[in-house]
Parts: sequence; structure tokens; C-alpha cells
Amino acid sequence: MPELPTRLLYADRKVMDRVNDVVQPINVSTTYRYPDNPDDYVLGKDVDPAELTSARPYYSRLSHPNSSKCEALLGDVLEGEAVVYNSGLSSFYAAVTHFHPKTVAVDQCYHGVIGILNILSRNYGVKRVGLDDIHTLQKGDLVHIETPVNPYATAVDLAKLVKEAHDVGAYVLCDSTFAPPPLQQVWDFDVDMVMHSATKYFGGHSDLLAGVLVTKDKAVKTQLLEDRIYLGTNIGNLESYLLIRSLRTYEMRIKRQSSNALKIVTYLNEHQSELPALKKIYHSSLQKEAFVANQQVGGHSPVFSILLSPEAARAYPSKLKYFQHSTSLGGVESLIEWRPLSDPEIDLGLLRVSIGVENADDLIEDLVSALKQSPA
Ligand SMILES: *Cc1c(COP(=O)(O)O)cnc(C)c1O
Repeated sequence: MPELPTRLLYADRKVMDRVNDVVQPINVSTTYRYPDNPDDYVLGKDVDPAELTSARPYYSRLSHPNSSKCEALLGDVLEGEAVVYNSGLSSFYAAVTHFHPKTVAVDQCYHGVIGILNILSRNYGVKRVGLDDIHTLQKGDLVHIETPVNPYATAVDLAKLVKEAHDVGAYVLCDSTFAPPPLQQVWDFDVDMVMHSATKYFGGHSDLLAGVLVTKDKAVKTQLLEDRIYLGTNIGNLESYLLIRSLRTYEMRIKRQSSNALKIVTYLNEHQSELPALKKIYHSSLQKEAFVANQQVGGHSPVFSILLSPEAARAYPSKLKYFQHSTSLGGVESLIEWRPLSDPEIDLGLLRVSIGVENADDLIEDLVSALKQSPA
């Protein structure tokens, strides 16, 4: 099999090119003309939605040419059957709709995931327990594991949690947004479904929202596609064009962002005694547990967090030249966020950093000089 950088350029060719442009055009049509023999288009008449949504587009809520190409490309990169969505959260909603658990086990994770579980609990009585209580789940329940976990980018022990889940017959959904392949390969840990917010590293330029679910089971993909028709959450036309364009350079970006972050975290950790404002650094590269090396086989997340005093943390983003103060992560530009602005529960001194593709030494110089101007 060709390597990732090559596949990123060619894997979508298995979905027919409708024109011979090297760059497939943006197409904004919501509807597509039927062929002269329309019989094959009748939904529910033994037509595989996977085929309806790739080879034969007819309404863009089901599929359109660039969404099908995104699916082919992401399926190849993520080594399974991919279904794309119009956001990371709509992909999570589609996954819980599919698994239909009575109880979901989850700990620290993206706050929007908890928001969806709260809606399910309000409307349908879906219960929530922590990852320490997986043994109390029933067959068919769901364990949701985010690793590395937002906002700290520390890793949790996937092999251990997956075993506990499967021992009681629960499914495992893994949110691998913070360390997509080649940084970690979560299929090696026998998870049942993988989810990514493609808004982050796959999009990579802070200009599109998208999500993706990946399964190893073709029948599950078919079910997800069928559900997506009625949930109405296919990726948008323009976004799918942008996502394909971004994926062409994904391998270079993620490797650079990950190695930049490792260099920066290593520097800050080694010089912490000279930086009294810097109270703590969170990143999987600083974890000592043996499972971390098994999981981060291709590198660590380009995200990490630092803890300062609450007053220092509030002022810190405004002291930086190369980090924009905003939420989100994964783009080519470095960002920093004083986390209490988006998470009311978090420590008032916490700052989350998303490293971009700038020169790592420039970023270190910027972070260090602002730390030196910050009160301890
Ligand atoms: C951003 C994010 C999501 C939600 O994705 P959207 O594309 O913003 O809907 C889910 N999980 C993680 C870990 C994220 O970082």
C-alpha cells in the first residue's frame, strides 16, 4: 500500500471524477438530474445507500460529489468505512443515535459531547457514569473515550478501558481528534468506532466545520448513511471542497505541528525552574506511564496546556506576538485560550495552547519572553 502522503493525493480517485480538472470543482447544486432509467433511484427498494451516496448523487442532503470524495479520502486515511458530517458534534450525535445506549460512561471530554448527553438524558433518560464505573454497564451500553483529552492533551489508557467495556458487552467510541493518525492508531486497541472533529487537524486552516465517524463494518456504515439522510447532517458542499484541499497537505501539517509542540513542551519543562510564573505543564509527552508510548506511536498532540496564577493567566495571551487568543485548535496558526472563557468549571489559571506550523524556536522565544513578564 502506498504511504499516507501519497494516498492523501490519490485515494479519492476511486470516486469517479465528473470532469477532468486536476482540482475537482466546487459544486453547489442541491439536486442532480435523474438518468433516463430512474428505477435504481427509489429509496428503500433494495438500493444500498452507500451506492446512492457515492456513485449516483441526486440530492445533496444524501451526498454530493465532493462529500463522496471526502468519504473516500478519510476512509483511506482512517483505515475504515468513513461517514462525514457537518460538524464533529453532529458525528457524535449520529454515533449515540446508532448505538442507542441506556447508559454512557464518560469522564473529562469535549464539553459539547456532555451537552448532547444532557439532551439525551432530559428527553430519553439516558444515564451517565464515569470511566471508573464501566463494570456497572450493561450489554449494548456505550463507553466514550477521548484521548488525548481536551484541554490537557494527556492520554488515558485505551487498552485497559476497552477491555473493561468489552468484558460487559459495551461498545467503545473513541474521539481521536487531538491526535489523529499517524500520531496514534486507535484501531490497534480494538475500539468499535472512531470519531474526529475534522474541523481541527483534517481541516487545518480554521475555515470549515466537519466531523467523521469511522467503522470497520460495512453494514454499520450503511446504517449511518441511512440515518444521516434523516438527521440531515451531511457535510456542506463548500466545506467538503475545502476539506479535500486541506487533506492534500495533512501529513506535512500534522507532523510539523506535533514536532513543534514536542520541542516547545520539552523546552518549557527543562527550563521550568527559570520561569516562576509557569506552575504546571500538561502534555502526554510528560506522562511516565508505559501505555502512553504504546498509544502515541507517531508523536504527541500539537495541543498542550499550562497553568499560571489566575491573574497571570488572564493577562498572558495579550503579551504574545505569535499566538492569537481564541478557542479551537488544529489550524496552521498557533492559538492560545484562557480556558475559563469557554469552560466555566476549569481552573482559573489554565491556558490551552494549539501549536501551528510556525518555526518552533520563534514560538519558544515568544512564550518564554511573555512568561518572564508574568507574575509568579
Ligand atoms: C472540537 C471538538 C469536538 C467538536 O467538534 P466540532 O467540529 O466543533 O463540532 C469534539 N471533540 C473534540 C475533542 C474536539 O476538539
